[in-house]
Amino acid sequence: MLDPISVIFVTIFSAIMSTAVLGSLLPTAIPGVRRWFTASALAIVALALFLLQSVGPRWLTILVSNQLLAVAMLLILQGCRQFVGLRPVRYAEYGVLLALLAGMAYWTYAVPDVNIRIALVSVFYTYAYIVVARIVFMARPLARPHYAYWFVSIGACLGMIGHMGRGLAYGIGWVRQAELLQSTPVNIAFLALGVLALPWLSIGMVLLTHDRLAHRLERLANLDELTGILARRAFLAQAEAAARTASRSGRPLVLAIIDIDHFKNINDTYGHAAGDRVLAHFTGVVAGNLRAGDGFGRLGGEEFAVLCPDTSLPAAVKMLDRLRARVAQAESALPGRKLKVTFSAGVDQYRSGEPLTSLMARADAALYSAKAMGRDRVVTVAADDPLPVEQSPGMAD
Ligand code: GH3
Ligand code: MG
Ligand code: MG
Repeated sequence: MLDPISVIFVTIFSAIMSTAVLGSLLPTAIPGVRRWFTASALAIVALALFLLQSVGPRWLTILVSNQLLAVAMLLILQGCRQFVGLRPVRYAEYGVLLALLAGMAYWTYAVPDVNIRIALVSVFYTYAYIVVARIVFMARPLARPHYAYWFVSIGACLGMIGHMGRGLAYGIGWVRQAELLQSTPVNIAFLALGVLALPWLSIGMVLLTHDRLAHRLERLANLDELTGILARRAFLAQAEAAARTASRSGRPLVLAIIDIDHFKNINDTYGHAAGDRVLAHFTGVVAGNLRAGDGFGRLGGEEFAVLCPDTSLPAAVKMLDRLRARVAQAESALPGRKLKVTFSAGVDQYRSGEPLTSLMARADAALYSAKAMGRDRVVTVAADDPLPVEQSPGMAD
């Protein structure tokens, strides 16, 4: 039989499990998790105190329990802000907590009225749930699955509906009762919606944390640590997918392999750390000059690759040549040091049905020729001619 006591019992057990799971996620140091963990633990204590209402003193089972649960709700809200990168604390909300405490004390001791207390508490939770739903919904990522974000937003909306309905029902006086845990159908329905939203949110927070962890691991696996662009494996996977699309659609696809000229000299002259800064600066300049649909990855060392879908070979060569000029003219990566970075590129177009490795081998051969021809140039392979052809004259050598 569902009654307020069993609803609270279910919530307590669920909160214990959520606290354990959130506790296991503390070492991830994901922003917000510590607050969510604390909120979950506080909720256990607060809900246990609610259960003592028929036997315990009012200050403990009404004032302390309600205040603890309100603090838990505020911590959930702050944790959500922190999780999405917002400033977690809004001082006005602490003022609201104090006002809530004062109101609860007034309607417990001065003019005892459980209905007004319920309405008062409901206003606070309605606010908190609306903010949680809004923050998490707005922060849902567009480029990756946002299941966890929807889950939390829906739970918060249900909690909001439960508390808003409860607040209105008791505030306007549609429903009146003598004590909090009375087993009226309305009380049970609103309690269930309002209180069970808490474990729903806790599970949602675990989902959010797991989603963030998965995102971190994906980034670690796919992005090059130094430059932040795609690492070799992820770039090749993207290139394979683009080659399949090009084979199906018959649209052109161009791949360029780019290698920085005389990079060893930079390392030898300025040191390896400065070389690293030059690499990061170089990728920044290149990435800033590519179109949104182009791919860019680090194949290894100072060798990179650019993928241009839906681009003809002459157009790609023109773009790469412009890029070459931009890189050469870019300001020095090492402040106070005059440093001109140039690159050589080998480029060719994908031939429908061939393996990606064939295209890469041709681009590589063209790059080799670009180096042999004196560097600082873009060289390609004619469609029916396996020999590399110089496309742009060198400027530096
Ligand atoms: P070329 O014009 O023929 O390409 O000459 P190069 O000096 O650029 O080519 P080479 O392959 O001889 O040297 C590449 C250098 O890049 C050697 C290696 O120590 C350096 N290198 C590779 N990876 C990194 C890195 O992550 N950071 C730094 N600082 N240097 C790197
Ligand atoms: Mg090089
Ligand atoms: Mg190299």
